[in-house]
Amino acid sequence: MSLYEIAQNQWRHAAKLMELEPWITTILSEPKNEIRVNFPAMMDDGQYRLLKGYRVQHNNILGPYKGGMRYHPQVDIDEVKALASWMAFKCALANLPLGGAKGGVEVNPKEHSESELMRITRRFAHALGENIGPDFDIPAPDVGTNAQTMVWMMDTHMNANSAHNRFAMRGVVTGKTLNCGGSLGRDKATAQGVVYTLESWAKRRDFDFDGATFVVQGFGNAGSWAARLLCEKGAKLLAASNSRGVIYNDKGIDPNALLAYLAEHRDPSGFTGAESIPDKQLWQIKADILIPAAFESQIDGGNAGDIDVKVIAEAANGPTSPAADEVLREKGIAVIPDILCNAGGVIVSYFEWVQNKNSEQWELEEVDRKLRRLITAAYDAAEDAGKRFDLGQDTRTAAYLVALERMQHAYRERGIFP
Ligand code: NAD
Repeated sequence: MSLYEIAQNQWRHAAKLMELEPWITTILSEPKNEIRVNFPAMMDDGQYRLLKGYRVQHNNILGPYKGGMRYHPQVDIDEVKALASWMAFKCALANLPLGGAKGGVEVNPKEHSESELMRITRRFAHALGENIGPDFDIPAPDVGTNAQTMVWMMDTHMNANSAHNRFAMRGVVTGKTLNCGGSLGRDKATAQGVVYTLESWAKRRDFDFDGATFVVQGFGNAGSWAARLLCEKGAKLLAASNSRGVIYNDKGIDPNALLAYLAEHRDPSGFTGAESIPDKQLWQIKADILIPAAFESQIDGGNAGDIDVKVIAEAANGPTSPAADEVLREKGIAVIPDILCNAGGVIVSYFEWVQNKNSEQWELEEVDRKLRRLITAAYDAAEDAGKRFDLGQDTRTAAYLVALERMQHAYRERGIFP
C-alpha cells in the first residue's frame, strides 16, 4: 500500500462507521489541488540546478489551507498527498478554522550551503507564487526546514507584493523567527502538544511521569523537545536515535547534553553519556512511553511485535502502519494517533497567524495555556467519539470521526457552489 492509500483507508474507515454523506466522501477522496513546480536555483559555483517542488492542497472547507514544507530527497507526490490529507483532518480535529495542505522539495538540505538553501527556498516560494498566501495557503516548517526557511519564504512573498500591503503578507507562513513575526512557544509546540496529550492519557490511568521511562526515535525538532519536556516532568530518557545512530543508557540520557553533542557531531554514537546500540534494538526496549518522531512507516508488522511499552505517542506523521496498528491493539498498547498527538505544531501556528493578523505578541504562558485547552479538548472529543462508536482502544478512528463530523456539518450547511 502506498502512503496515500494508507491515509485514505484511515479516514474512509471512520467515514463508513459514521455513514458520512457519499457526496462528501467523493469530495474528500482526492486533494483539491496538486501543484508541481520545476524551478532553477543557482549553486555556489555559479551552476544552475533544476529542482522539483510540490504543494498539495487537500481540503479547505473549514478555512485556508495549512501545512508544512518538507525538504528531503525522498519527497514525492504520494507522500505529500498523504501528509496533506492528514493536515486537513488534524486541523478539523483541533477545531481550527483551517484546511489542510503539505508541500516540499525533493532535495537533501544537508548537501547544500546556507546560501544555496536560501536561493532554493526563494525560487520555490516564487514558483509557487499566488498558490500560497496568508488567507489562502499558509506553509510552516517540517522535516528539513526551520524558522530561517520560513523567513526566506515570507520575505520572498512580501517582496512579490505591492509595498502598500507588504506587511499584511507576514502571515503567509508560520514557524518564523521571533524577530520576523514568529510566536513564542512555536519551536517547542509540537512536542508540548505531545506532552499535553500524554497528560490526558495519564490522567485517566493514574500514571505518574515522575520516574517513568521513555524512548525517542528521531531526535530532531519534535523529538528533542519532547525529550526535554518529559525530563522536566521527572521522566527518564532511556534511548534516542537519529538517522545516523541509536544510543541507550538504562540510567537515563541527559537530553540537553545530547543536543549540545549533536550540534557538533551529527552521529550520536560517540556521545559519552550512553552506549551505541544497533538500530532495530530501539524497538525492543522496555519502557513506559515510545515516541516515534522521525518519519512515516517506522513501526510496521515486522517490529510492532517487539514493542514493550504502555503508550505510543505519535509525534511523527504516519509512523505506524495499518498492520502494526492491529498488532499493537492486540497487545493492549495505547496509541495516541498523529493527527491528535502532534497537533500542537499547527495549533501554535494558528496562534502565530492570529497574532500576525492583529499585530500582537502573546506571552509564552498565554500560548501554552491556549494550546493545552485546544489539544485537551481534541483529546476529550476523540475519547467521546470512541465511546459513542464503541471503538475500544482504536483512538485513531475515533480522532477521524471527530474531524469528519466537523467537516460534514460545514459541507451540509454550505453545500456545493453553484
Ligand atoms: P527534524 O528534521 O527536525 O527531525 C527529524 C529527525 O529524525 C532527525 O533527527 C533525523 O536525523 C531523524 N531520523 C530520520 N530518519 C531516521 C531513522 N530512520 N531513524 C531514526 N531517526 C531518524 O523534523 P521534525 O520537524 O522534528 O519532524 C519529525 C516528524 O514530526 C515528522 O514526521 C514531521 O512531519 C512531524 N511533525 C513535525 C511538526 C513540526 O512542527 N516540526 C509538526 C507536526 C508533525
